[in-house]
Amino acid sequence: MASETAYVIDFDGTVTTRDITTELGLFFGGKKFIEIDQSYQAKKIPIKSWLQAAVALLPVDLEKLKNRAFEWAEIRPGFNTFLQKARAANNPVIIASDGLGFYIEPILDQFGLLGEVDQIYRNDTVINDQGLLEILNPHAHPTCVVCGNCKARIVVQQKAAGRPVIYIGDGSNDRFGASWADRIFAREDLALTCERHNLAYSPWWDFYDIINIEEPRLTDRDSGSLCSPLGAGVKS
Ligand SMILES: [Mg+2]
Repeated sequence: MASETAYVIDFDGTVTTRDITTELGLFFGGKKFIEIDQSYQAKKIPIKSWLQAAVALLPVDLEKLKNRAFEWAEIRPGFNTFLQKARAANNPVIIASDGLGFYIEPILDQFGLLGEVDQIYRNDTVINDQGLLEILNPHAHPTCVVCGNCKARIVVQQKAAGRPVIYIGDGSNDRFGASWADRIFAREDLALTCERHNLAYSPWWDFYDIINIEEPRLTDRDSGSLCSPLGAGVKS
């Protein structure tokens, strides 16, 4: 019997049509956020630092931030059908997000999809004891400084459980998790990054492109991967 296939899926710009963390940064941070984002795009700072810098520009009002997130929340076409097919095939669906995180469950709940997702690994944005907005990274690698959420470890853990992994994403930072997956669906910056690193991928536009595909076999991706989530983290 073929083993179940695990789907590891980015949230912002993948499940949703817009990157809500970026939208919040732009809306409340304006020019300062653009400078932070340019440093990130130029690889001068990792995403973990990008998140910390972005969160410092936001109002200390989670309700206000959540309401903004709801305004921009639109689910990419086909996601509901994709979830139903995955469930029928017993294939777990895992969301792995390296954004602000706090709006993911509320948005999925708003669209009636929260109960259809098996697991969510995300950062959290909280108001700390000093009354400041703070980003928490409960799923970070213990020493690697690059990612807030170690998506590569999530992929590796699924593979260790015997499940081939299909990775679906859109951002350049998805490259670490994607590089461990048995099949990659990439759009936008992730597609460009896959080209740059010689990672085979399938382009996709919406979730209808990912329905009725031939599921991959479990493969050893260690040699081609871009980091070592169970080791020291990012490869130099
Ligand atoms: Mg994304």
